[in-house]
Amino acid sequence: MQSVWERTSFTAQADLVVVGSGIVGLFAAIFHQRRNPKHRVVVLERGPHPIGASARNAGFACFGSPSELLHDIEAEGSDTALARAEERWIGLHELRAELGDAAIGFEMTGGHEAFRTGEALYPRVAERFDQLNDLLRPITGQVTFRWDDARIRDCGLQGVEHLACNDLEGAIDSGMLMRAVLRKAGQTGVEVRFNADVASIEEGASEVVLPLRNGTAWRCSRVLIATNGFTAALLPELDVVPARGQVLLTTPVPGLALRGCFHMNEGFYYFRDCAGGVLLGGGRHLDFAGECTSEEGLTPRIQEALEGLLREVILPGVDFRVAQRWSGTMAFGSNGKAPLVNRLSERVSVAVRMGGMGVAIGIRVARKACDMLA
Ligand SMILES: Cc1cc2nc3c(=O)[nH]c(=O)nc-3n(C[C@H](O)[C@H](O)[C@H](O)COP(=O)(O)OP(=O)(O)OC[C@H]3O[C@@H](n4cnc5c(N)ncnc54)[C@H](O)[C@@H]3O)c2cc1C
Repeated sequence: MQSVWERTSFTAQADLVVVGSGIVGLFAAIFHQRRNPKHRVVVLERGPHPIGASARNAGFACFGSPSELLHDIEAEGSDTALARAEERWIGLHELRAELGDAAIGFEMTGGHEAFRTGEALYPRVAERFDQLNDLLRPITGQVTFRWDDARIRDCGLQGVEHLACNDLEGAIDSGMLMRAVLRKAGQTGVEVRFNADVASIEEGASEVVLPLRNGTAWRCSRVLIATNGFTAALLPELDVVPARGQVLLTTPVPGLALRGCFHMNEGFYYFRDCAGGVLLGGGRHLDFAGECTSEEGLTPRIQEALEGLLREVILPGVDFRVAQRWSGTMAFGSNGKAPLVNRLSERVSVAVRMGGMGVAIGIRVARKACDMLA
């Protein structure tokens, strides 16, 4: 019993439906709407608000730690690895320009990689440190990384022997970022529908039908799947492997010395100051198989490892308390770190697999997806 008004204004076929209201889906919708002001662009999100990695991450606005970049260069060759580092670098600038630092809570706190005493990784990184800076100079236009071991004590870290620093990275408030992108989407004319869990994709000759789990359905000319770590439920044939990341946040720590974003253990641990306390995540390497899941959840093994790191390295001698714990889902390929931006058929495209770098690269992937749709 729909009225003519409901049918024309609310349930009419959309030109483009984007599934997933993370950073990628929202920016792709915004860019498509800007290019096609007359199109009806709709974003469907299963949660009551964005509930993917974009709203559950650590908020590092970073383009890669020395060990991460050197590992990528070794694994993929310098052209591929540096091209991605450049995309992240450009992405961070575009993100800040699109939304504004104040709106996303961006602070240029600096990026760090900490090497524990006797860590075997350190000599391997130290050996190629200058070479890495040379390779990055055309991207950042300056010397990117420097050793600053004196800062270890200033940050209150214990059991850390070396600290690589850069002044070009910072931290954001991921909740503020998502609110800012949602605002921009609304201003641009994009419709965002929450509690809209897409059950399947049914492509016909002239349209795509997207049945929702609530029994209704959306119809559109084209669809972009931006569901990242949850993609397998809709497109199981794609090489998109979910990877859970567990995080905790302490209550405020009086006189906290830690400031900035820190990576450790090849990026498998990451921590920063947040709301007066310490936000710490990672530990996936302790149980790769178990953490290859899109299920929410915390495990004693990883939570204990995180708390151990707080006790021994980040907050030694401090009687801290954990205020909050959560998990989020990333997505990787089984081979390498490249995002997957692809047209799967005439009407169905995909932009997923952001790894642990979606804050920086998400906006670039969204642009690429928008070009592909055009
Ligand atoms: C714990 C953790 C820490 C991280 N830290 C950082 C960091 O510090 N810096 C950084 O750059 N990156 C970080 N990342 C990675 C970054 O958050 C992601 O790469 C990025 O947010 C991915 O964005 P996205 O839009 O592709 O996916 P998501 O943000 O995951 O969005 C996908 C959306 O699709 C929705 N969805 C899924 N299935 C359906 C369906 N069937 N119907 C409707 N909607 C659906 C989901 O609810 C979700 O909102 C971290 C990730 C995690 C998990």
